[in-house]
Amino acid sequence: MKNIVLFGPPGAGKGTQAELLKSKYDLVHISTGDVFRYNIKNETELGILAKSYMDKGDLVPDEVTIEMLKAEVENNSNANGIIFDGFPRTTSQANALDVFLKEKGTHISGMVALEVPEHLLIERLLYRGKTSGRPDDQDEMKIRNRFNEYQNKTAILQEFYQDQNKYFGVDGVGSIEDITKRLQLVFDKL
Ligand code: AMP
Repeated sequence: MKNIVLFGPPGAGKGTQAELLKSKYDLVHISTGDVFRYNIKNETELGILAKSYMDKGDLVPDEVTIEMLKAEVENNSNANGIIFDGFPRTTSQANALDVFLKEKGTHISGMVALEVPEHLLIERLLYRGKTSGRPDDQDEMKIRNRFNEYQNKTAILQEFYQDQNKYFGVDGVGSIEDITKRLQLVFDKL
């Protein structure tokens, strides 16, 4: 199985690129943010809980997120591989993912990180806020808080995967097509 963590700060282009790459490599795309938004829309218990964190730009607690992610993977047990988008976001999540995949007889092939400077991320997120209607993209304070969460809890995962020789950085600035091509060069090797 090709199991890839598509990594990067909010606005790096993970969701856009995962959608393009999943068909090229016949992989399943699991976005934890999308699963939370689906649950919010359908007013499930999980959605109501997740909303209270997402509205502020805070991370949803690990236990809840990990359980939800495991269920998503179980639902796709026949997949050729998975692109994880927005997960893991903490060291606990990364450890839980390693243990869980090992139990399933598989592992993470690599973390592929989209590298984009912060001023471009804010521009992209505010633009997405206007077009997608995502409330957490429409308020610069919320965006800043998401970056803080990323710096404080998520950025460390680069080292987590570097220590396993599984980290691959990719320049995330340019046209969507050019970035897809750069990502494919890495995906082909994994
Ligand atoms: P995203 O769509 O990846 O930008 O995620 C939107 C929001 O969903 C984040 O700001 C978090 O509140 C929540 N979220 C998504 N994935 C996770 C995760 N792995 N751990 C905790 N919270 C998450």
